[in-house]
Amino acid sequence: MLIDTHAHLTSEQVEGQLGGMLARAKEKGVDKVLNICTDVASLEKGLSLAQREPWIFNAAATTPHDVEKEGEHFFPFVEDSAKKGELAAIGETGLDYHYTHSPKKLQQDFLLRYFELAKACHLPLIIHCRDAFEDLLAMIDQYYAHRPGVLHCFTGTLSEAKHLVDRGWLLSFSGIITFKKSESLREVAAWAPLDRIVIETDTPYLAPQSHRGKVNEPSFIVETAQEIARLKGIPLEKVAQITADNACKLFLKMR
Ligand SMILES: [Zn+2]
Repeated sequence: MLIDTHAHLTSEQVEGQLGGMLARAKEKGVDKVLNICTDVASLEKGLSLAQREPWIFNAAATTPHDVEKEGEHFFPFVEDSAKKGELAAIGETGLDYHYTHSPKKLQQDFLLRYFELAKACHLPLIIHCRDAFEDLLAMIDQYYAHRPGVLHCFTGTLSEAKHLVDRGWLLSFSGIITFKKSESLREVAAWAPLDRIVIETDTPYLAPQSHRGKVNEPSFIVETAQEIARLKGIPLEKVAQITADNACKLFLKMR
């Protein structure tokens, strides 16, 4: 039993490949997938997908990249869906100062709004953070303390990982831990307590080493789980079970 906690199944890049992807995921023992919806079109598709395929769940928010363009427009749709109980989480939201496609201040404003929505709907948060860890941590401590969340596609330092784990957060590892150059990230994964880890593909991005450069898909989650098993010196089945349990504890709707 494997859970892919972060895949953009209803994004345009996956269009036309979804049927095959889902079949291969099932073949490889992927039990559940959390589909991340980032705009009105992907949310509408995600909600109807979840009706057809009850092992697919949805989360929604505008990414920090797109808040300037689409944040205002999409927010009421996310709010409505969250209030109806259709979502397993709010996200991915967060801060990205690497690209800064949207102004920092606006990213922070939307993060605050999503904090409030997550609290109001008793949902966990999925956070995207790049080159903005200090601001993120300060905002969590001030506005979202003692609330549940996961840092998706974690690529930070050991010290950043410790800050999050101390606050009860989960770390989500992606195919990046299988890349040749990811030695320091593998050290973080080796350190991370097993009850704080979930895994994800971030489909269609970030395919693991053996599929690098190709369109990623949920079935490839096995490679990331295998890498964690190797780092921890435990069987793959145990990694699958523990990370799935962790995911279901965080995303209550996926139980
Ligand atoms: Zn994503």
